Amino acid sequence: MTEVFNQTVLEVLEDPSLIKVVENVFKSQTQLNFAEKLWASWYAYMQNDILATGLLFFLAHEVFYFGRCLPWFIIDKIPYFRKWKIQQSYIPTNKEQWECLKAVLKSHFLVEVFPIWTFHPLCKSLGISVAVPFPPLTTMLKEWALFFVLEDMWHYWAHRLFHYGPFYKYVHKQHHKYAAPFGLAAEYAHPLEVISLGAGTVGFPILYAYLTGHLHLFSLTIWIILRLVQAVDSHSGYDFPWSLHNFVPFWAGAEHHDLHHHYFIGNYASSFRFWDYWLDTEAGPEAKKERESRRRAKAEKLAKKTQ
Ligand SMILES: [Zn+2]
Ligand SMILES: [Zn+2]
Repeated sequence: MTEVFNQTVLEVLEDPSLIKVVENVFKSQTQLNFAEKLWASWYAYMQNDILATGLLFFLAHEVFYFGRCLPWFIIDKIPYFRKWKIQQSYIPTNKEQWECLKAVLKSHFLVEVFPIWTFHPLCKSLGISVAVPFPPLTTMLKEWALFFVLEDMWHYWAHRLFHYGPFYKYVHKQHHKYAAPFGLAAEYAHPLEVISLGAGTVGFPILYAYLTGHLHLFSLTIWIILRLVQAVDSHSGYDFPWSLHNFVPFWAGAEHHDLHHHYFIGNYASSFRFWDYWLDTEAGPEAKKERESRRRAKAEKLAKKTQ
């Protein structure tokens, strides 16, 4: 029985097909908005919250990950877009994309399917709600902003650690197979990397739910989708004049992460540029030049002082 409604909307239905349930919810639950009606229909139709949450997470992951990769795959095939390709000399071949697709699908089914199926009981124990209506949009906007900042911090430090000796050699090296990334390569990684970096995406919302006692599963689902889109886009290999970082200077985007794949060192953060800026780990020849001139100026200043 679903916890979305106090009373089931299926009792009156002889034919509980998805279409009929959707029709019934849209007719009877007029106080809900469009997204809430769809959400409620899904849980009412499934009549099993564990399966409903598990399938929802799995499908959202597959649909939004591959759905977001598809436009990048098409753009790679259209020469018009080459002028915005960051590493112009490298266009991924069909073989590379196919190998990457197979590896990512394998990882999704082998690694990510288990946490997805155990997620609803965890949500229940933490008091993560699946009920309708959803919390106010302003509450969810604040949660998404907070999760972006916390994930970025986690990603910076975990990723920096992954570039250290054995962690790089045995785990992170797989993700660096492509020196010029493409969308699909976002989740091309060793299972240990998928788990540890994934912890930054899911772990903070869990901690937030534990500490505050109020988080809605819809808010969490949208956050995961936003993070998926961010990860795919940062691996796209394209920097357009309309790319977000041109309007929001602290947003990392593809230009930031492409340099990481190209030079192997620096630009460890995921969504924002501030960690690499503060800790002087920006990648690329320009950042290196700036770093050297800063160090030279500092040394000269020190030499003058001691004269
Ligand atoms: Zn790396
Ligand atoms: Zn990467």
